[in-house]
Amino acid sequence: MKIQVLVELSNKNIDKTFTYLVPSNLESFISVGIRVQVPFGNQILEGFVLDINKETDNQIEDIKLKEIIKVVDLEPILNEELLELGKYLKKTTLCTLISAYQIMLPKALKARNNVNINKKQESYIILNDNIKIDFKLNEKQQTIIDILKKEKQVSKKILQEISPSSIKTLLNKNVIKETFKEKYRLEKTYTIKEKHPLVERQQQVVNEILKYKNHQEIFLIHGVTGSGKTEVYMELIEILLKEDKTSIVLVPEISLTEQIVNRFLSRFGNNIAILHSRLSDGEKYDEYRKIAKGEVKIVIGARSAIFAPLKNIGIIIVDEEHTDSYKQQEQNPKYSAIDVAIERSKYHNCPVVLGSATPTLESYARGIKGIYHLISMTKRVNEKPLPKVEIVDLSEEIKKQNSYFSDMLKISMKKTLEKGEQVILLLNKRGYSSLSTCRNCGYTEKCPNCDISLTYHKTNNMLRCHYCGYGTKLKEICPECHEKAMLNLGLGTEKVEEELGILFKDYKVIRMDVDTTSKKGQHEKIIKDFEDKKYSILLGTQMIAKGLDFENVTLVGVINADTSLNIPDFRSSEKTFDLLNQVAGRSGRGEKEGKVIIQTYNKDHYVLKYVKTHDYLGFFENEMKIRRMLSYPPYVYVTLIKIMSKDYETAKNISNEIFTYLKRNLLNSKILGPSVANVFRVNNVYRFQIIIKYKKEESLYNVLEKMDEHYKINNKVKIDIDFNPRNIG
Ligand code: ADP
Ligand code: ZN
Repeated sequence: MKIQVLVELSNKNIDKTFTYLVPSNLESFISVGIRVQVPFGNQILEGFVLDINKETDNQIEDIKLKEIIKVVDLEPILNEELLELGKYLKKTTLCTLISAYQIMLPKALKARNNVNINKKQESYIILNDNIKIDFKLNEKQQTIIDILKKEKQVSKKILQEISPSSIKTLLNKNVIKETFKEKYRLEKTYTIKEKHPLVERQQQVVNEILKYKNHQEIFLIHGVTGSGKTEVYMELIEILLKEDKTSIVLVPEISLTEQIVNRFLSRFGNNIAILHSRLSDGEKYDEYRKIAKGEVKIVIGARSAIFAPLKNIGIIIVDEEHTDSYKQQEQNPKYSAIDVAIERSKYHNCPVVLGSATPTLESYARGIKGIYHLISMTKRVNEKPLPKVEIVDLSEEIKKQNSYFSDMLKISMKKTLEKGEQVILLLNKRGYSSLSTCRNCGYTEKCPNCDISLTYHKTNNMLRCHYCGYGTKLKEICPECHEKAMLNLGLGTEKVEEELGILFKDYKVIRMDVDTTSKKGQHEKIIKDFEDKKYSILLGTQMIAKGLDFENVTLVGVINADTSLNIPDFRSSEKTFDLLNQVAGRSGRGEKEGKVIIQTYNKDHYVLKYVKTHDYLGFFENEMKIRRMLSYPPYVYVTLIKIMSKDYETAKNISNEIFTYLKRNLLNSKILGPSVANVFRVNNVYRFQIIIKYKKEESLYNVLEKMDEHYKINNKVKIDIDFNPRNIG
């Protein structure tokens, strides 16, 4: 038997299957989608079997074929649907097939030869069949047998607490026997809760979606924060579960905290697998296998959970569909989990439900056009009004010598805290201050590897680069003019925390940003502690804006809305609207009314006007006008090409070369560039970019694939292609 094996060639971005022979004693173990070990040059590699008994064109017959070494899996780890999905990813993102398959699997199951994660076993005791007891049982032995009669199987550890010696005797006399079952690492504790009866609007939405339960229909639920979307999702899942259908729920990485997971657990118990990046490799491996073995019917997870190997999918839900992290942008394949969801829904003939209080302009435009089935939920479940939003002009505050807490924010905080209610403060910048500058000559400390200024972190008295991690000690003396005049400007979460310690010294503050949540469990602990009211003020970056539900929070303050407005990206207004609207939605979720105070130097900016009135539609219409004028999505599609090299001249010359090539070959597109990326140099790599805009460009994939192939061989630059990028620059 001959097979085609796809292996990962480290560092080479090429895709190729190789032909191997299968020794006859292994033939019966071979099937498509299984991993095998093969000799490759002087290495041993793992690869996926993609085909049996066929040969590739580049196979030279007279070279003696090598035999595979062994078969890794008993069952295929990529089923037919996922194998096809890999080809879809390759076609639509121009990634390699192997990278598409690797992204679908947890680390322990990727085709590589250096991962070793064990399955954990747990021992159980069961009664033997047709037991005859020909000796006198003592009391403890009798208890054990009684328990086993009732419970059928009990963990050995638990029974041993009754009497280890009795167990030994019963084992020896063949009354009971020991069996082993796999023990999964991730422990889930929960209490099943009575579900809320749906309110009228929720029921209507459920009914509308269920009309299409065996259809490939895409829904967009535009529902204000607190309108009861999550409850709608759970109801749909429960109904479909009764028909033996499975479900995938995608949530943004950061909101995958105990809060949302607990809601699902207390409704569906152990029928859930959870997948997100804060799990250990072992935990991910276990959760994945539960899904593959069909032991769970519901998967909740972040982006890559969209590849969960569920069969018979009844619905795919994408919550907070506007979230950037649904698009993988750091590495290939640069896929959108929403596109993959839609692709999978075609295979399973099932609805996809996208939900958000602030859908992307692209999605909402599709909703209006009828490409997506648009559903609105305009009121909060508890009929409470959305929180009142106040805008504070920071330039007025400066005149009053107030630095970053306006009078209004200070007074409101004081009132809220005195009532025993809690406050959330948002500042979208971590660290202490964002610039270390010389008062005398204007010199600014920059990263030596990246084209970006360093951020001061007071906790360890270091200046840090947020791009490459470079760190250096804070200097008092300017390296340029040698004056003792270095000054820290700008504002970060650390500095605000310090100030809060002075202004509100009777209240406890907890800070949540990348720096306080880097260790496992810290993120969950901060949320739990704040929920348990151990702290009065939660201060954080955008990671506090999403999904959190604290009933005792009645004031949300945004220290400076401009950090997000000033990002040089055509989506900066949209992203600011989302962020402010999301964080505002954290206020007044319980019985008490909520308030939001937003501080800014741009008080007349249109984004703030619409945030103040909670007017998504108004924002949408205004922003669409701008997009049309400037010819940006959703009016056109955008593809971003990045050209990167350690050598400046090379990067520049090849960028020009590519520009000319694209101009000549993409006749229906507008080609912009080459220009330097927003951060021109990262880790000593120079970055140029070219933007392609088009409404319809049929030859796009072919032209870009050719270009990509050409520079892979040439190898002097790294080319990055991102279709529909979420960030430009
Ligand atoms: P969203 O996902 O739209 O933000 P949620 O589903 O989280 O809304 O609902 C907001 C709050 O209202 C939650 O605390 C939830 O438990 C509660 N809730 C949702 N639906 C109902 C209902 N039908 N009856 C009572 N409370 C509900
Ligand atoms: Zn750097």
